[in-house]
Amino acid sequence: MKVKEVAQILDRFYPPELAAVWDNVGLQVGDPNQEVNRIMIALDPSELVVNEAIKAKVDLLVTHHPLVMSGVNRFTTETSIGRVIANLNANRIALFAAHTNADVAKDGVNDVLARKFELLDLEPLLPLAALSDKDRATEGNLLKIVVFSPAEATEKLIDAMSEAGAGQIGNYDRCAYQVSGVGTFRPQLGADPYLGQVGEITQTQEDRIEMVFRRQHLSGVVEALRRTHPYEEPAYDVIELVDTDQIGLGRKGHLARPLTLKVFAERVAAVVPKTHHGVRVSGDLSAKISTVGVITGAAANFLPQVAQREIDCYVTADAKHHVTLDNLMASGPNLIDLSHWASESPWCDDLANRLNAQFTAENKGIEVIVSTIMGDPWSLRLP
Ligand SMILES: [Zn+2]
Repeated sequence: MKVKEVAQILDRFYPPELAAVWDNVGLQVGDPNQEVNRIMIALDPSELVVNEAIKAKVDLLVTHHPLVMSGVNRFTTETSIGRVIANLNANRIALFAAHTNADVAKDGVNDVLARKFELLDLEPLLPLAALSDKDRATEGNLLKIVVFSPAEATEKLIDAMSEAGAGQIGNYDRCAYQVSGVGTFRPQLGADPYLGQVGEITQTQEDRIEMVFRRQHLSGVVEALRRTHPYEEPAYDVIELVDTDQIGLGRKGHLARPLTLKVFAERVAAVVPKTHHGVRVSGDLSAKISTVGVITGAAANFLPQVAQREIDCYVTADAKHHVTLDNLMASGPNLIDLSHWASESPWCDDLANRLNAQFTAENKGIEVIVSTIMGDPWSLRLP
């Protein structure tokens, strides 16, 4: 199996169009056509992890955090990022990142953590529509194009628009709906009509074609339509579709029976990886916790939105003093603050299990291992 084929499986698990607009996901380094025998999963593509990957002779490293986000324009070996790229290339290891797409996707990073806390009836904590444009997976929006075409051009139009990315639904491509009707128009002076005469009302048999597509294909699909349609002024509509897949950031769920904040925090501490950061709690330790919200990684800044979601406790990472104090003074949800790494690294085992199960079922002979590097960057905490 080649790197690009493993990338396709990962894109199916964590669709790249679910990534936030600022993010950088997918294949980052390496040769898409290289054969893969061994894969390593880690949270960060740090030099420590890359050295471990070299020793383990892996062909593909899959991480949650991308190597390069933005603002980096030098990749010399004087920089850590430069050394990572050089070492990956020298050892023929490809690097793939599944970041905010893996946060949002079903069975992704947030589901993995929420299940560790035994939360039931999981649903998105913050629907994508509730997020700011910056954090939204705007590329994830589905659009539909409706175009009216003379019958003889219908098949050509469906072909051209599907080549530009329209009509992909699950495992099907070139999906379109068509129905026949009558179109009418009167060419004005200066027109060069495909049918009819200037100044005369013309009626003609036309097909209405409908195809769905992701927003990132918008300009390509419209360009394909205009290039292929025989009319000077083709009639078409682009319609934004409501997301009925119920996708969103974080997860909300309830406990089988209420626990005090203290007991719930002890459950959390027992199931997340141990770090020097530990598990910090802000709130009334005797408060009853029934409903819990979870967003992995640095997501304490979402507290004002999360507070609207009727939860008793919010579990996240990297909470700062001011946002925590403001939340406490505003009687917001009780807060449990984890180490960023501890909140997200359980995903590595989950992804390794999913990939191993798939490769075993398909007899692919690919081994998936998880980095054993302790990725939390803190080395000591004094009380
Ligand atoms: Zn993160």
